[in-house]
Amino acid sequence: MKIRVLTQIGLALLLLIGVSGSASAADKVKTVASFSILDDMVRQVGGDRVEVVSLVKPDADAHVFSPTPADAKTLAGADVFFVNGLGFEGWMERLEKSSGFKGKTVVVSKGVKPLTMEEEEGHHHGEEAEHDHDHAKDEHAHDEHAEAGHDEHEVTDPHAWQDLANGEIYVANIRDGLIAADPEGKAVYEANAAKYLEAIAKEETAVKAAIATLPPERRKIITSHDAFGYFGSAYGLEIIAPEGVSTESEASAQDVAKIIRQIKQEKIPAVFLENVTDHRLLDQIARESGAKIGGTLYSDALSGPDGPAPTYLDMFRHNVGALTAALSS
Ligand code: ZN
Repeated sequence: MKIRVLTQIGLALLLLIGVSGSASAADKVKTVASFSILDDMVRQVGGDRVEVVSLVKPDADAHVFSPTPADAKTLAGADVFFVNGLGFEGWMERLEKSSGFKGKTVVVSKGVKPLTMEEEEGHHHGEEAEHDHDHAKDEHAHDEHAEAGHDEHEVTDPHAWQDLANGEIYVANIRDGLIAADPEGKAVYEANAAKYLEAIAKEETAVKAAIATLPPERRKIITSHDAFGYFGSAYGLEIIAPEGVSTESEASAQDVAKIIRQIKQEKIPAVFLENVTDHRLLDQIARESGAKIGGTLYSDALSGPDGPAPTYLDMFRHNVGALTAALSS
């Protein structure tokens, strides 16, 4: 009698392990994220049920990324490919085709209201940046532009993740993408996403409160490329950049001279380096304008695990910490 009971418990235990034990690597949903910020978001929502590989690594620049045959092989073996969209990954379509990827591509920015800006051929005028929130206005601006000539064109700003409200849209799209790929995990993905969305909302409150402490006349900074348009528009900071929304185009000497004049005229307190771009241009701008270097902002990539911004939310904490330290007095 006693033995039989024990056997039944043993069987029940075996069943329990089989059902709820952590999935082995072979059972996991294989996902690829285009860059490190999405890698973290997919991890937060997917938890133990997913395996994530990021193509563009921490501290690396996704604008000028060049996929290797190994990247194509990684993608070929994946179930889901999470990409930012909005033109961020210019290399994406060719990689999808050449890899023979058969899974589902999820564009995480779907539903975000994109910001556009006017850029001159090859470079960009910071003060002419347009941050329209209104779609009708966007179209109007576009019409005017068509009459103005051919030297300027409207570009979509891909850096939507720098607004935490957009981060919430990203998370919802990631959750839905994972549920579509792995319906059995629905409850897990929903619970993880809900918890994560709560943390993002909390961080958003903290960011707004921190920026609100800054004197309004000091809420103006220089970064090397235009990665913080969404951040500035959401949290009330003016961002001026010698390079455009992609790091592919280099700033012209005229643009740099203009920014140096602008820093002096408008008494812009600080210039910020970025983790993904070369800092020589900003060193020069700081030197010639007398502005101080306020630190390094994480724009298009996270840091490695031991750095100051290993997760999406850590990135905001670090960036806001650097901004408030440099701009508060
Ligand atoms: Zn960028």
